[in-house]
Amino acid sequence: QLAAASEYVETVYEAIVKRDHHEPEFHQAVKEILDSLIPVFAKHPHYKQNSILERMVEPERVVSFRVPWLDDQGNIQVNRGYRVQFNSTLGPYKGGLRFHPSVNASIIKFLGFEQIFKNSLTGLPIGGGKGGSDFDPKGKSDNEIMRFTQSFMTELYKYIGQDEDVPAGDIGVGAREIGYMFGQYKRIRGAHEAGVLTGKGIGYGGSLARKEATGYGCVYFVGEMLESKGLSFEGSTVVVSGSGNVSIYAIEKAQQLGATVVACSDSNGYIYDPDGINLETVKQLKEVQRKRISDYVKAHPHAVYTPGCEGIWSIPCDIALPCATQNEINGDAARLLVANGVKAIGEGANMPSDLEAIDVFLNNGVLFGPAKAANAGGVAVSALEMAQNSMRLSWTFEEVDAKLHGIMKHIYNNSVNAAAEYGYEGNLVVGANIAGFIRVADSMIAQGLV
Ligand code: GLU
Repeated sequence: QLAAASEYVETVYEAIVKRDHHEPEFHQAVKEILDSLIPVFAKHPHYKQNSILERMVEPERVVSFRVPWLDDQGNIQVNRGYRVQFNSTLGPYKGGLRFHPSVNASIIKFLGFEQIFKNSLTGLPIGGGKGGSDFDPKGKSDNEIMRFTQSFMTELYKYIGQDEDVPAGDIGVGAREIGYMFGQYKRIRGAHEAGVLTGKGIGYGGSLARKEATGYGCVYFVGEMLESKGLSFEGSTVVVSGSGNVSIYAIEKAQQLGATVVACSDSNGYIYDPDGINLETVKQLKEVQRKRISDYVKAHPHAVYTPGCEGIWSIPCDIALPCATQNEINGDAARLLVANGVKAIGEGANMPSDLEAIDVFLNNGVLFGPAKAANAGGVAVSALEMAQNSMRLSWTFEEVDAKLHGIMKHIYNNSVNAAAEYGYEGNLVVGANIAGFIRVADSMIAQGLV
């Protein structure tokens, strides 16, 4: 049965590579999931009989569109926008928008595919989608950001809705961008449909603790992994890559739990502060002034700034939280972390470890929290934001944070149990993929040929 299952998986994988051969990130994400599902197909042949994989790897809909906008010099600029509506079995398509020059169909499809299983793991009623643009927000004025986001929404609004598709933020899209997009959507629709976007400002339908959710959730998840081995954040040394929304709140929670966070980074380089990162400085630089992380050393001259990103993984630590971007840890970086004694990895970013790095961690007994489980706190609280919008009520910070903590524990336990059930004790990569897959697959079959 295992041989037949692995042949099935291989056939589906080869077909997508053949169909869209220029999409390496999408293929990587599919491969990671498909390989871990082999034991499921061996045990339950009806998934294959229902061609469940062939259906799942093909998005329900892919939209790509022109985004024309005027820069501050009065020149016309053109970018490309995307929305991949991957799977609506469990609820409205749900997933962020990424504005970054690297964005293309492959990146958005990989993120959308991951999102299906991540959203399933939360146990909440949300399908999987993702979108974005190759627009580069770096160095743009506030007016340029507003004109771009308004133009982006002027096309995107046709495809979204609080019961259809609910975008949120991702890299390059934060509260400011969501605010401008919400304002534009409201003007076009002539209605205040609060649940159409999440990550909104607190004053107009946003949820308390949404900003903190991905970072806090990642630390809660790693906390569960550590506890299973009698370890904790207390007294540990932590390295966090990135310095955006996910990183900042992962640092905050790790510090609250008694860890010393000695490094963080941005796309230009990283800072090392052996005394522990001063988070107020990072927040001021990144959330308020929109400056580079290199400026940290101006306020803290004993800290060291090093250009380039890979070097951050050479810093010895007990716990590493990659919270920057995809494939930021390769096999070599993983071997370095292992050689320096790392005990746990929590993926705050999406797919930050490549396939070789994951193998290195698993083969060396490192506790490994895969992205779709460890960073699911963000989208989970987005679903709680939708729930509050539907009720036209809002919960306190403490209520949302407690729900988030409960959801992260639930994801951890489900992943542990699924791994054990299929003979992969302690392997959360396999566990998260299987638990996420089964809910979607069973619901698809229940809904007929969809
Ligand atoms: N972009 C985040 C993610 O990768 C959040 C998505 C959302 O809140 O919809 O899960």
